[in-house]
Amino acid sequence: MKYVFGPVPSRRLGQSLGIDTIPLKTCNWNCVYCQLGRTQPLINERQEYYPSEEILAEVRKALEAHKPGEIDWVTFVGSGEPLLHAGMGYLIRQVKSMTVLPVAVITNGSLLYLPEVRQELSAADAVLPSLDAGTASLYRMINRPHPELTFERLVEGLVAFREEYCGKLWVEVMLVRGLNDTPQVLWDIAKVLQKIRPDAVHINLPTRPPAETWVQIPSEESLMQAMAILGNIAEVVHPAEGSFDLSGYDNPIDAVIGIITRHPMRQEELERTLEHWSPGQVSQALSDLTASGRAQVVERFGMRFWSAAPSHYPDEEQSLRTMPGYRYRSKSRHSSNEIHGDEK
Ligand code: SF4
Repeated sequence: MKYVFGPVPSRRLGQSLGIDTIPLKTCNWNCVYCQLGRTQPLINERQEYYPSEEILAEVRKALEAHKPGEIDWVTFVGSGEPLLHAGMGYLIRQVKSMTVLPVAVITNGSLLYLPEVRQELSAADAVLPSLDAGTASLYRMINRPHPELTFERLVEGLVAFREEYCGKLWVEVMLVRGLNDTPQVLWDIAKVLQKIRPDAVHINLPTRPPAETWVQIPSEESLMQAMAILGNIAEVVHPAEGSFDLSGYDNPIDAVIGIITRHPMRQEELERTLEHWSPGQVSQALSDLTASGRAQVVERFGMRFWSAAPSHYPDEEQSLRTMPGYRYRSKSRHSSNEIHGDEK
């Protein structure tokens, strides 16, 4: 399967059958915490990246292959921003006509300022946009958006969508230590959330390998503070435990690539998942993937994560240059250049 994966255990949606409508990593943001690495280059053009009918044929096949109870949600999510696929409205409506299962769209929300995008999303049962900052400067620092996508447009789009949309609007706030987990910043986010009036706020943590090495998970105390400040509709969503369903794949190599392209996994998770096959097959698959250069191991938080090879994770030195407030003095004795944290 090229476009459909899982079901995978989702932090928010139980066992979720994922639909990926765009190539890795087609996105108009370059979030410091992105588990798929840096976005290079930023893309903000809506087009039919993959043929809609091919995507729908795979969805039909995957739905037929699963028994009732094995899938909780059908979710448009994947290796970038799904709403960059120009046929999203059609895809959502077609999937709704195939199944009684609820359909969700996980999006960064940056295109909701466009009336046609809001209209396309109207058929979904739940939409999960992001809001990680309450000010324009912090938005640029965390999400590093395409120049056309201002903070004003993001908030304007979320507010307008809430007014029109009858489904569940669950806003996700990704907390990053030292960036948006302090009381002042959380109050700024709370003020914007008051305008949006979501059905729930999901606080999330960067537990997967972040693009930038300096991204850290907030302390338990900051998490509690965030819950208190973001009000009684906020809920903390911990990483879900559950099993990955790789039954749609014929061999362990395709299965691993299918999952880690959208969802990098720790070594232990990967080994647990691959118990589906014999230990000999597992070890052969891992060495084949390493040798063929289709997968890479990324080290973050002192752990090893498997990710698809095209994802770009900067090394420590490259990454530190983008850390807010970081000042780097060139190693050359003859140079007095200083590189400031917000330069790339
Ligand atoms: S986290 Fe999502 S919105 Fe941010 S860069 Fe990654 S794919 Fe894009």
